[in-house]
Amino acid sequence: MRVVVQNDKSRSFRVKRSAIGVRGAFTALAVAALVSGCAQETSGARGASGQQPLQAPPARALDSYASELRAAYEARVAAAERWNLKEVPLTPPPPPAEKPVIAPRAGFEVTGQEEEDLPPVFTTVPTEDKVVFLTIDDGAEKDPQFLRMMSDLKIPYTAFLSDYLIRDDYGYFGRMRDRGVTLNNHTLNHPYLPGLSYAEQRREICGMQDVIEERYGTRPVLFRPPYGNYNGDTLRAAKSCGIKYAPIWNEEVFADHWDYRESDRRLRPGDIVLTHFRGPGDWGGTMRDMVREFLDKVTAEGYAVARLEDYL
Ligand SMILES: [Zn+2]
Repeated sequence: MRVVVQNDKSRSFRVKRSAIGVRGAFTALAVAALVSGCAQETSGARGASGQQPLQAPPARALDSYASELRAAYEARVAAAERWNLKEVPLTPPPPPAEKPVIAPRAGFEVTGQEEEDLPPVFTTVPTEDKVVFLTIDDGAEKDPQFLRMMSDLKIPYTAFLSDYLIRDDYGYFGRMRDRGVTLNNHTLNHPYLPGLSYAEQRREICGMQDVIEERYGTRPVLFRPPYGNYNGDTLRAAKSCGIKYAPIWNEEVFADHWDYRESDRRLRPGDIVLTHFRGPGDWGGTMRDMVREFLDKVTAEGYAVARLEDYL
């Protein structure tokens, strides 16, 4: 990824200085990672036939791994400064080897949920990892600087798009997909789905599946009902056009504040956070302001941002 070259000498010095303190920790981490890889190999876990057992790496390889980690951390520090974050965002753990089982949140099931194996509606992914997930809805605002900011900071997010808001610039979301973001279904026209018949709901959901497949090459498995409103027909229609999950959210972040589903206003491991593609005319700030509002709280509370799809 291309990052802006540092020409401010004093700032780049400051970054180097701040990285020195973590140098020892990174070397230790590198050793621990490699050792545990070896330990796993000798404690009975076997690779596929034809795979070679891991060898102890030469000291030089270890050293270069440590410097890669260092360089990655320094890049994160520089990016955090560039985008005016209060703290450097935390790095998420690797994706879970075993995916959590996603059940509907209690009270969010519909009749026939289990018997018909309908997509679960949930607000939090069951995990003990201190991670949260950022999900961004609708698609009205198309801020090129937002794309640069998220790539530069390496913060993953998941988009839920409505055709009537993205059709004036499909290309913007194509560039988002090219940066590794998964584009998901938020209906064609963003209606209040429970007010529609099954056939009408199916047109809204399956129609958006077709748009995303035609424009971006993949058929989503994630669908979010507009306003978080749905009924049994919604989930049946969604399932019939290939949807597996219906994530909603536990918190919502705006350009200048948060809203919470839980009264204690705390983040929980695996929480799904909602926000929107909105601009200054809608909420008195830019997408970048929203990202700062989001990351400053998430980092201060000791959470990293992980990729929702990695947990499903
Ligand atoms: Zn929406």
